[in-house]
Formats: sequence, C-alpha cells, structure tokens
Amino acid sequence: MLDASHRYFHAAADVLGLSTKVREILLSPFRVVKVDLVIEDDEGKLHHNTGYRVQHNAARGPMKGGLRYHPTVDEDHATALANLMTWKTAVVDVPFGGAKGGIDCDPETMTRAELDALTRQFVAQTKDVIGPTLDVPAPDVNTNADVMAWIMDEYSKYQGFSPAVVTGKPEHLFGSAGREEATGLGVTIALREALALEQKTIADVTVALQGFGNVGRHAARLIAESGGRVVAVGDHLGGVANAEGLDVAQLSGWALEHRTVAGFPGGDPIEGSEVLTWGADVLVPAAIEDVLTEDNARDVRARIVVEGANGPTTPAADAILRERGVLVVPDILANAGGVTVSYFEWAQNVQQFRWELERVHAELEKAMTRAFASVRDVAREKSIDLRTAAFVLAIRRVGKAALARRNVREKIAL
Ligand code: NAD
Repeated sequence: MLDASHRYFHAAADVLGLSTKVREILLSPFRVVKVDLVIEDDEGKLHHNTGYRVQHNAARGPMKGGLRYHPTVDEDHATALANLMTWKTAVVDVPFGGAKGGIDCDPETMTRAELDALTRQFVAQTKDVIGPTLDVPAPDVNTNADVMAWIMDEYSKYQGFSPAVVTGKPEHLFGSAGREEATGLGVTIALREALALEQKTIADVTVALQGFGNVGRHAARLIAESGGRVVAVGDHLGGVANAEGLDVAQLSGWALEHRTVAGFPGGDPIEGSEVLTWGADVLVPAAIEDVLTEDNARDVRARIVVEGANGPTTPAADAILRERGVLVVPDILANAGGVTVSYFEWAQNVQQFRWELERVHAELEKAMTRAFASVRDVAREKSIDLRTAAFVLAIRRVGKAALARRNVREKIAL
C-alpha cells in the first residue's frame, strides 16, 4: 500500500516538475513511534502487542489520523495511511497534517477490559508526542467512540483536561454532532458533484456498494434519500441485490441485528465480491483497501467509482479504469468528510463551544463542494485525472507550507 501511495504521489510530482529534494522532504515521515504494550490476561499470562504512530507531516497544522486495532497493523501500513492523511487534509483544506497508527492486536479475541488496558498503555507511552497541538488521533478500523473516550481520559490524567486530544468521541463527551455520518455524507456529496460533470443527479443512477459499516451504511442511506437506487451491497460475509432498489432502512436494521447484509430477505443473495463488478452506474468501494486490482478492473461495469474506503484501487487497476474512461473520485477527496468533521470537533473542543447539527452539515457541504471544485479545476487545467489532480492540489498546499517553514530555497514554483 505504501508503494501505491508513493506512486500516486510521484505521478503528481511529475506533473509539478518537483525536484528529488522536494519529493524527499514531502515523503519522509516526520516521526515514527513504535511501542511495546504488555497486558496480563485473565489467567495471568502476559501478551505483547506492538503499537505504532507514524507522524508524516505537520507543515499545515497538528497531525491527524486514525488509530486501527488489527493484526495487520505494521509500520509500512501506518506510514502509507499517514501519507494519505497529509494529502487528504490538504485537499479539503483543513489546518492539519497527516498521521496514522494503531496496535497489532485482534480485538475479536479480547475482552473490553483488555482493550481498555491496551489503549491506556498506548496513551501512556505516546503522551509526549500526541496532543491537541501535536497529533490528534481518531477512530479507524475496530476503534470507536468508546476507545476515544478512554484516550481522552488517560491523556487528561497526565496533561489536564484535554478533549481536543482525540476526535470521534461520544457526543455526550465533547464529540461533535454529525461526526458519525460525516464520511458517508461526504461520499454522497462527492458523488453528486461527479454526476454534475455529466449533467446528471443522484436520482438518475443505480449504485452498488461494497461495505455496509459506518461509511457504506450512511452513504447508502443518503444516496437512497437523494433518489438514487442502491441495487447491490456486499460485505465480508456476502451480499444482496435488488434491481428495483434495496430498502436501505430495512437493510440497515437487518445488518445491525445480524452484523452482515448477507441473508437480507429484501433481495437476491450474491457473493460479497460480486458487487465490485455489478451492473450499476456507480460503484462505491467502502470496505477495505486493494479490492480493485488488475484482475477485476476490466470487469467493473460502473462508469463512476467513488472511493469511500482508503486505498481500494491499486495503481494497476487505476490505470485500467482510466484507460476505459471510468471516472474515479479518489479517496483523498471522496472520503474526506470524516476528517473535515473531526476538524470541526477539534475546533469546538479548543473553543469550548458546541455547534448545532445544521451548522456542521452546512460547513461540511461547503468544504466538500469547494474541495471537489478545486480538484476538478486542476484536472481541467492540467488535463489529468481526478486522483492525480487531488495529489497535485495537496502537494502544492503542503509543499508551499513545508518549504516556507524550512526556509528551503527551491526554484520550482509550486
Ligand atoms: P467499518 O468497520 O464500520 O465497516 C467496514 C465494512 O466493510 C463492513 O461492512 C465489513 O463487513 C466490510 N468488509 C470488511 N472486510 C471486507 C472484505 N474483505 N470484503 C468485503 N467487505 C468487507 O469501517 P468504516 O468506518 O465504514 O470504514 C470503511 C473504509 O472507509 C475503511 O477503508 C476506512 O479506512 C475508510 N474510511 C473511514 C472513515 C470513517 O469516518 N469511518 C473515514 C475515511 C475513510
């Protein structure tokens, strides 16, 4: 995945004619933290888990990015995702840099008390390098508002009351209204803007979605509310399709109860992976990375792909989709709604002031439409695809800030 994010970076850096020196400055992570976390289980046995925090770039503000609890978490993975966060915060123009991290553990096999203990140790070991003005974690795979509350509590023991140390907190504990649906809403706005390029609206199209978690579920609901027909949804256990359009509210109820969309009686059963090549106008991959590859990109039937997940398209698949004229709205634009509302949460915490839901939605709408328009304009100006344009825009913004702060005398006009 690191390779993919570097390749996308270099394609944009080539468009900008960036020197090796500037590329090096922008690609090297600022700090990589690796900590050993030891917890004792209920039987008194010790378990070692490794925690990571990769702080990629802070040129435009405190670093920002999720914390993932998963057995696949490692330094390379965290570095790739930290990179993406730097470019994502810049695309949507929130005053943050990029970071990412997590713990190499399997929450499925752990008790809540063990997760609490692991989280608090992680905070104890990283408390000097995270903080409201340094690096602000957020939820990611297998971490949620509860974990964020534990982080806030533990960090506050050392540094005093600090709600702004994390975002994605429960609403009753300094979280923001509207954070939960923010990424799905951002994906829906990105889709609406992409369709507007072809003088279409969401009501004109059918949509297939992979993933029915936080991002996929809210995106499906909002797409259906805008008149779009959600015709197929898949997850890790299976999928369901209905050419007339799935009843998304009923599907949500089913998925909450059964923890999967598989078996939903309001449609025909399909394989989970079939959604990627389903006969719909739009595909929203909103589950995991690397699902569109050179093996299936030629079979994608959608004409628009809106990347709800981080890194769902490999560079080889990206090239095939481009060649086939499929419009791809890249992750660093399409799923930036989450980090945007995280920024609103941080701003509310810092100001000790709460926003109404209407204000959160109105500001998110503004941020997403502005970001989409900026990326579209760069794409037109340089005759490049939306992904490369998003990276060009981000590199320009981060590059200008980074070079100004470092007093680097670089001749290339960014
Ligand atoms: P989630 O854990 O709530 O949901 C994940 C969904 O993906 C579930 O429906 C799950 O069944 C499905 N899934 C998991 N493995 C799968 C597989 N192998 N094949 C098919 N489906 C699979 O996660 P989420 O918060 O919705 O995040 C989804 C993606 O969006 C991730 O890539 C995440 O990094 C990205 N993202 C999330 C946010 C956010 O605010 N939650 C913001 C930006 C990006």
